[in-house]
Amino acid sequence: MEYQLIEEIISRSHSNDWNSAKNEWSFEYVYQSEEKETCLCGHHPIINICVLKNSINNNETEVGNCCVNKFLGIDAGTKILASIKRLKDDLSKSMSSEVLEYLNKKKVLSDFDYKFYSDTIRKRKLSEKQLAIRERINQKLIDFTSYELNTNFSRINLVLKWAEDRSWFDTEFVLSLKKSCERKGKLTEAQHTALENIIKKLKIE
Ligand SMILES: [Zn+2]
Repeated sequence: MEYQLIEEIISRSHSNDWNSAKNEWSFEYVYQSEEKETCLCGHHPIINICVLKNSINNNETEVGNCCVNKFLGIDAGTKILASIKRLKDDLSKSMSSEVLEYLNKKKVLSDFDYKFYSDTIRKRKLSEKQLAIRERINQKLIDFTSYELNTNFSRINLVLKWAEDRSWFDTEFVLSLKKSCERKGKLTEAQHTALENIIKKLKIE
């Protein structure tokens, strides 16, 4: 299994050497799949899935969180999943500060959200109003790691990757969908249809 994972990662990397190939990959997203998927290592089924991005050739790939920890030494997915589990049990709790930084880096939070959460992250007693704000921001984390949203992201990234060597294609609309996904945690029905139409019409695979 380990050998297969190494081979699959190298085939998507710039370098042919495992030690430098693995350093090309960084963490993008984690989500819990609603379908039983297969890891690059061949393990099936996997539910906790990380989306990784290659910094040199912009390839994206999905790998089981377990393998991402073990072989790529990336633990962001595990940390995010731990915060999600805590919040799903009790939405009034806080995500970890590392996860807050991650969400902010992904532009999911407004300046207000980020400042409010940072200032109150360790507080146990919040006013009713403050608690409502914390829960609203917690929900953003849950939405951002949802299966639906990550399916949208992977469809959007498919188009963007395809467009890389087709300079005639204007990516502005697709980039606006990506922004919308990040800010609102989802696409509207109309946006979703428009995206699928682009993929179908241009036969993007
Ligand atoms: Zn695996």
